[in-house]
Amino acid sequence: MTVADITPAAASLGNELHDFVSELYPICRSITGNGVRETLRRIGERIPLEVHEVPTGTQVFDWTIPPEWNIRDAYVADAHGNRVVDFRACNLHVVSYSTPVKKKMSLAELKEHLSTIPERPEWIPYRTSYYRRYWGFCLSHSALLGLEDGEYEVCIDSTLEDGHLTYGECFLPGERDEEVLISTHVCHPSLANDNLSGVAVATFLAQALAASRRRLSYRFVFAPGTIGAITWLSENRDGVSRIKHGLVLTGVGDAGIPTYKRSRRGNATIDRAVVHVLGRSGGDYEVLNFSPYGYDERQYCSPGFDLPVGCFMRTPWGRYPEYHTSADNLDFVHAEALADSLQKVRAALSVVENDVSYVNLNPHCEPQLARRGLYRAAGGLKDESVDELGLLWVLNLSDSRHSLLDVAERSGLAFENVTAAATALVEAGLLEEAAG
Ligand SMILES: [Zn+2]
Repeated sequence: MTVADITPAAASLGNELHDFVSELYPICRSITGNGVRETLRRIGERIPLEVHEVPTGTQVFDWTIPPEWNIRDAYVADAHGNRVVDFRACNLHVVSYSTPVKKKMSLAELKEHLSTIPERPEWIPYRTSYYRRYWGFCLSHSALLGLEDGEYEVCIDSTLEDGHLTYGECFLPGERDEEVLISTHVCHPSLANDNLSGVAVATFLAQALAASRRRLSYRFVFAPGTIGAITWLSENRDGVSRIKHGLVLTGVGDAGIPTYKRSRRGNATIDRAVVHVLGRSGGDYEVLNFSPYGYDERQYCSPGFDLPVGCFMRTPWGRYPEYHTSADNLDFVHAEALADSLQKVRAALSVVENDVSYVNLNPHCEPQLARRGLYRAAGGLKDESVDELGLLWVLNLSDSRHSLLDVAERSGLAFENVTAAATALVEAGLLEEAAG
């Protein structure tokens, strides 16, 4: 994909996506607390969002909802009172879930609580300590080297108290109860690709689907990573059998090629739909097999659930040096990449949405297409995307056992052409949707 390939509409959509990432970027999020609430509030300005609060101490499978963490300020000040590390300048400076602290200490003692990336001396690392009580600061290695010996004042004005874990859900009912799950994590502070790109694309996707005719129902989950997905699954255990297709969206804004990680099942309809769209896109892409390492597909694909949920991303986590550092910033995500990700996910969902099985009502030998105005040579076809080959493939495989995606895969035709052929055949009275 090059910038030249972007249509004006996609460019404008990409800019809107990037603007939303920029709007959410300054908020200090964690797995609980007001940063998540504020993020959900802003998502809720764009799509119908139901916010759920699950109390601290609630058991969710093998996990327990932790205390809620909130932070107002944090700094390290030198002997002159100058803030040499300042949370207000960048929220990555504080280890997420740091316990409160306010005391004076020597540089040697302070260093026990400082994290840097020596090989990237200008970047600030992103660190968390959710389940081990700890406090710490993150800073650039060059800033660390600039700290002089002496006494420092350390302050983290945070609270860790009984509260809630917060997640948001947007449900878009369709004609059928079968659901498509779209899940993205909302727990990272000022990191643009890992977190906010997925949030923006999921929000815009929900907006687009809300305005479309829907055969399937769609459920969007905006939850903190790991503990949030586990909580959602725990709270919705009885309803998950309705989920027939799903995608985790994460890291969808960097300049890398699209990457799809298959569900644990490996060949679910969603896996085939995404691979079909990527395969026909004309651009480079990568498909990875499932592994129990990554994002929240780990929970959705745990053996007790084994949901057909894959993960759509661009460069996989950990394969870019900016990952979990201050360099995953607003310059690291690109409007074109965000728009391209949204477009590809929409195309894949359009495949699952329209992946219907039909029955050929004239299965004994080929029907006479020309008589029904279905041969282009006879000038009968109005729809440019319908061709004879598509008509013949759909007629041949419409035995109620094969769906349109099966037809597309077996024929090598694009899914849209197969869908258009099926529509023309239904109109001609030669095809009917299979029961069930
Ligand atoms: Zn992350």
